Amino acid sequence: MAKTDVLLISSPRFVDHRTPGGHPERPARAEVMARVSERWTAGGGRTAAPEPVVDEALARVHDARYLEAIAATAGRRAQLDPDTYTSPDSVAVARLAAGATVGAVDHALDHGAPGLAFVRPPGHHAERARAMGFCLYNNAAVAAAHALARGLDRVAVVDYDVHHGNGIQWIFYDDPRVLYVSTHQYPFYPGTGAADDVGRGDGAGTTVNVPLAAGAGDADLDRVFREVVMPILGAYAPDAVILSAGFDAHAADPLGGMRLSTEGYAVLTRRLRAFAAERCSGRLAVTTEGGYDLQALEDCLESALEVCAADPPSSIPAVAGPTAIAAAALESVIRAQSPYWPGVG
Ligand SMILES: [Zn+2]
Repeated sequence: MAKTDVLLISSPRFVDHRTPGGHPERPARAEVMARVSERWTAGGGRTAAPEPVVDEALARVHDARYLEAIAATAGRRAQLDPDTYTSPDSVAVARLAAGATVGAVDHALDHGAPGLAFVRPPGHHAERARAMGFCLYNNAAVAAAHALARGLDRVAVVDYDVHHGNGIQWIFYDDPRVLYVSTHQYPFYPGTGAADDVGRGDGAGTTVNVPLAAGAGDADLDRVFREVVMPILGAYAPDAVILSAGFDAHAADPLGGMRLSTEGYAVLTRRLRAFAAERCSGRLAVTTEGGYDLQALEDCLESALEVCAADPPSSIPAVAGPTAIAAAALESVIRAQSPYWPGVG
């Protein structure tokens, strides 16, 4: 894999979604993304500017009346939920964030190589008809639905943000064409993501929640990836993988209570990268979610690019360390998922 096969989509425009002073999802996050993007370009990496997402793509996962309500906030400040705000440019910027994620999927599908979207606002809390948790449009869900519309049969969305991605879960809760796998701190915001939430109807078994107690670290996350996340991905056999890359499970994060290191995150990303290379013709799209310590965010973005640009390793050693938190979670996850994934665990 040459560096030039990987595409990074980002935009200086992401600074123009303004949140009130003291809000963790702040414009400085976009400045970090811009710095990483500039370094990537300077080092010979490929970048592209995002196209705004088209209405048709948004309408696959959001209600028409919700989309009208969001569009109506253009040009003004609005508070959409206790944590979610718009500024005059937010609708335009959120359209670029969703469009960048769609672009990352298009790159992955067209070239069999990773596409990355460094974006804000994030998306995974946005539901079909509700803005929530700093999110307006559900970027990963829009991109997954776009991949299906392009003819893929099955898409996996893996979400290692410290928060559960309620929006992605509910949007595809009864849809077996999208596997949603989330590792997250639990109990924690937004309150959803119990191991027993496994999907419904035809989608039973295609929602996989791995709720972890506060304090989970690199070895815990790597163990649940090795024992549950990767085996279920293998059994599901997706045509593409979308990574909802939230970096707020980092030990330095001011919101999350997990203890991941930058290298711990890199190991998880590497597992997904290797899986996509071996099993999905290289189709991996990455879109950012949370991550509120600016230095940790910068380090993790840099590292995600490095992992995507490197040749996938033939084997990835397990992370050593205590895994009591993983062990406690695995028991409930395996009990809930074993009817659907009999060989797993
Ligand atoms: Zn988060």
